[in-house]
Amino acid sequence: MELSPLAGNRALKTQLSQQEEGRGLSHAYILSGPAGSGKHTLARLLCGAMLCTAPAQRRPCGHCGPCKKVFAGIHPDVAVIAGPAEGKPITVDQVRQLRADAYIRPNEGERKVYLLEGADRMNASAQNAMLKLLEEGPAYAAFLLLAENGGGVLQTVRSRCEELSLTPVPPGEAEEWLRTRFPDRSGADLRRAVQEAQGILGRAVSLLEGDGGQAQERRAQADALVRALEGTDELALFEASLLLEKAPKEELPRLLDQLYLQLGERLAVSGEKSRLLKAAALVRKLRGAAELNANPGQLSGWLCAGMFLENEKGRMQNAE
Ligand SMILES: [Zn+2]
Repeated sequence: MELSPLAGNRALKTQLSQQEEGRGLSHAYILSGPAGSGKHTLARLLCGAMLCTAPAQRRPCGHCGPCKKVFAGIHPDVAVIAGPAEGKPITVDQVRQLRADAYIRPNEGERKVYLLEGADRMNASAQNAMLKLLEEGPAYAAFLLLAENGGGVLQTVRSRCEELSLTPVPPGEAEEWLRTRFPDRSGADLRRAVQEAQGILGRAVSLLEGDGGQAQERRAQADALVRALEGTDELALFEASLLLEKAPKEELPRLLDQLYLQLGERLAVSGEKSRLLKAAALVRKLRGAAELNANPGQLSGWLCAGMFLENEKGRMQNAE
């Protein structure tokens, strides 16, 4: 089986590949693991493998007609069943409908695959209806039960399924995987995300994406401040520097780092080199002070005073 799009989970991949080459894939699996651990990725790969027309070792090939439809989410023989509303579990009525549908032969392929979201949250009657289908359903029907907690699925249902537990991805491999998705982020950023997400890639992605939005906002804030520092309008600088007072404590060092970086970039192209150099020296001092837990209000005051003082000196020099 071709399972490389799923990161980590080596044992599970070996198990599935051996199974496919041996007796073939099973007709019922429970895919368990926390949110973001790859249940949907694996489910799509299994759907693809069950409907793909390539030789077993290369399934899912990703190129044949059925594969393309599966990965585009439009294969008529793949049905995704979720609860009737956001956050609600699948109901017994839905399982009954599914049962009726399962007895209608596949449209295009040899199999029909049903993917059930939140199988561990289905109530007992819904799970029992599911059990009947697992026991008596047609041979071409396959069921993929997704569960954050495999233990939440009734024992009777579990005994009819094979469980595939998704595990955290080892740090090195997780970092590599994230690098292809976030090529612009530093190794340190990726490592931090892997660590915070404890190897759950979906979580690491949302951390990095969330941080991406924050990083964008930080760049915009720093840009406004750079422009005020470059100009000679004291009131504008005073207003722009209030950003530093408003920044949360843990955000302040990052904002100052970004400010320092952008001052350097601006320095390369600006005609106001002396002001920007002065500002960069001040920001560096403030960064040290922020490390020592200085009051943000004080920092913006220091920045304005430092720049105003330079103006005063400049004026005096001009007058002389
Ligand atoms: Zn294929």
